[in-house]
Amino acid sequence: MADTENHDTKISRREAFGLSSAALAAAAALTMAGAKDAHASPQAQKPAAHNAPNEVDPGPQNLPLAAENPDSEWAPSTDHGTVKPFKASFSVSHKRVESGGWTRQVTARELPMSKDIAGVEMKLTAGGVRELHWHVEAEWAIMLNGNARITAVDQEGRSFVSDVGQGDLWLFPKGVPHSIQGLGPDGCRFLLVFDDGNFDEFQTFLITDWLSHTPKEVLAKNFNAPASTFDKIPKKELFIFQTGLPGPLEAEQAQGAQGTGTVPKRFDFKASTMQPTKVTRGGEVKIIDSKIFPVTPISAAIVTLKPGGLRELHWHPNADEWQYYITGKGRMTLFIAGSDARTMDFEEGDVGYVPISNPHYIENTGDSDLVFLEMFKTSEYQDISLAEWMAHTPHLLMDQHLGVGMSMLDSIPKQEMVITPV
Ligand code: MN
Ligand code: MN
Repeated sequence: MADTENHDTKISRREAFGLSSAALAAAAALTMAGAKDAHASPQAQKPAAHNAPNEVDPGPQNLPLAAENPDSEWAPSTDHGTVKPFKASFSVSHKRVESGGWTRQVTARELPMSKDIAGVEMKLTAGGVRELHWHVEAEWAIMLNGNARITAVDQEGRSFVSDVGQGDLWLFPKGVPHSIQGLGPDGCRFLLVFDDGNFDEFQTFLITDWLSHTPKEVLAKNFNAPASTFDKIPKKELFIFQTGLPGPLEAEQAQGAQGTGTVPKRFDFKASTMQPTKVTRGGEVKIIDSKIFPVTPISAAIVTLKPGGLRELHWHPNADEWQYYITGKGRMTLFIAGSDARTMDFEEGDVGYVPISNPHYIENTGDSDLVFLEMFKTSEYQDISLAEWMAHTPHLLMDQHLGVGMSMLDSIPKQEMVITPV
């Protein structure tokens, strides 16, 4: 599969290879998109050059999907072997729509590799409620748009009621009952992350579903109240429903805390106002684990890569990584050992996955900031980078492997770069 792009200018591509005019137009559009994008990697610009006889595809082709996945269409020559897909998109998940909003999920059912973590997107209207419920798994969340009132009660009956805004996080420990309600003016849109790939947002313990499946006389005995008290419990789960806005925050907090007080460690975290953990010329990262958000069993890195920026070559020794792409475009190569590696492309609303200790990088291939989440089923964030490994191994030994030269090895920063250029 040699580079034959010099040949195709000498002959008519259409005559030689029977390309349809639609396919040629699409190829031209790809060329223009690549040329316009000053920060695109060589690979992102490559498809237009793939007109050698052994690379022609007369179709049928899903051209929009191909354009979104240039590294699958024409992989870098360094890719090799069979690597299971490590990408899924919320855009092809089923969306469940209810009166108070909608939700959809990417779990191990949609992305079989993602054993450790599942994700859920949700939109709630102003006044829309994600019904009071709980689940076996812990729930981590980031507010992507708008505002919400969240409530929870812990194992000591202690209360938590708070309002969260864009960029803020919350964590409901496993088994702790909770709710989420959209506030004005436009409700909210958020991402939920669960510490089990087989989690199912449609199979949680809902208060209405449970009580409608409990004999009314048992409810009457439980609360020492007439059975008729429970006549209005819905026969079918509410799940996400439209109702009025909540009461004043301080009044609801005081009501919840009567007799037992509030949870000793907050279930929310103001990531929006946190200082970045690391800033370089290529971007910045906020790392949020149990060191600064004590209740969380799930750690996170919120990464911003500027155009041309690179999340450096690295791996995570203590957990699989689940990624959610918030904005921008990027690509990642996953090396799974045994000579096998694959590169895939990601953009807004996509999910990526990296098994424990498998090395990878993420490169911004677009012309705007790339913002994404790295999520881990561990309370402590850990990574090891190629550069810090090389910097802190005897340079003679490293050079005997790679032949990069002693001065290059001496020049590697002694502290982890995280994002390049530094
Ligand atoms: Mn939940
Ligand atoms: Mn990583």
